[in-house]
Amino acid sequence: MRRQVITGGAIVVISVASAAAYSIVQGKWFHPAPQNAAQVALPAANTDGADTARQVVAQGAADGDATTAAQQQTATAAQVVVVPNQAAPQSQPPTQAQNQPAASPPKPAYACTNPNAMGVSRVVEIDTTGGPGFGSQHFKTFDFLRDHEVALTFDDGPWPTTPLVLKALADQCLRATFFPIGKHATYHPDILRQVIAAGHTVGSHTWSHADLEAVVKKSGQDAAIEEIEKGASAVRLEAGAPIAPFFRFPDLRHPPEMLTYLGNRNIATFSTDIDSFDFKIKKPEELTRSIIGKLNKAGKGIILMHDFQKVTSIALPQILGELQKNGFKIVHMVPKGTLTTLAQYDEEVLKENKLPTLSDNKAVESVVHTISGQ
Ligand SMILES: [Zn+2]
Repeated sequence: MRRQVITGGAIVVISVASAAAYSIVQGKWFHPAPQNAAQVALPAANTDGADTARQVVAQGAADGDATTAAQQQTATAAQVVVVPNQAAPQSQPPTQAQNQPAASPPKPAYACTNPNAMGVSRVVEIDTTGGPGFGSQHFKTFDFLRDHEVALTFDDGPWPTTPLVLKALADQCLRATFFPIGKHATYHPDILRQVIAAGHTVGSHTWSHADLEAVVKKSGQDAAIEEIEKGASAVRLEAGAPIAPFFRFPDLRHPPEMLTYLGNRNIATFSTDIDSFDFKIKKPEELTRSIIGKLNKAGKGIILMHDFQKVTSIALPQILGELQKNGFKIVHMVPKGTLTTLAQYDEEVLKENKLPTLSDNKAVESVVHTISGQ
């Protein structure tokens, strides 16, 4: 185990798993052991109001008991710290909200059986206290990747293209970081839950993918805060599990006021080192060449892709294959704590979920039976 204090105590990046810990054994789970017992807790009962409210959203959208059971099994087996979704009291400013203490990375809901898979070479735990920024396009301070190390990030999901991305990652026994859009999370909660179940890190990317620089200018800071917080609440509620205090600004436009806000909320901001421009490149081969070319030049980096883009979902197996051929190793970023959402924005998201009923947590098959015909 390697511990590396990057600077001034503001952030500590700890390597919690070596390549050996992630070595792939057929039919067995691959994940590092929890660092210590203090970080391990069994799932908490959903007794608080916020989590009950979450269930109204999440279970209404869940695709049946199987999904719920799988989620529960994942959470229990993964020893994830499931914390009540306590929000900051309304009387306090949102900057008072604190993130929850450490959670070990969740265990994937699949066994990695590819003996030639890349596998995760290193896991770094990120302390988001004070809202550090990552990605050399905008932030220079915390450059934690070593030569030929790559962190994979995917924006704008969950979307019907996301499962292909998940499959490509699973085939190579890899984990990545996802920045879903709040609205998309409400459209495709089942897909978001697949991302969570596979053990990837999930942050957020605003409610509606608004350009926050423009929002601050046109409508003021409160409107931009609402975009950030409502997006985070939606992803947290629909995920049905803790998410990371990780955020990416749409279009990588970073209004300084919102960086300060995120700093006070102890949410880390992720820009990028390598922008794939996969929203412009339409051919998988071209996208692969472009990414590998940029990486060979830079030598390492956080790569920004979109699970929302069809071309990426198609190209990812070849991109990963080329990364492997070119000697790149994959680093998985995990948060030290989990995100605590704010009650007023949880409520706003719940209002979007039209007229929930007490039966929303039942699987459709248990409510509606075909009794005639096919
Ligand atoms: Zn985006």
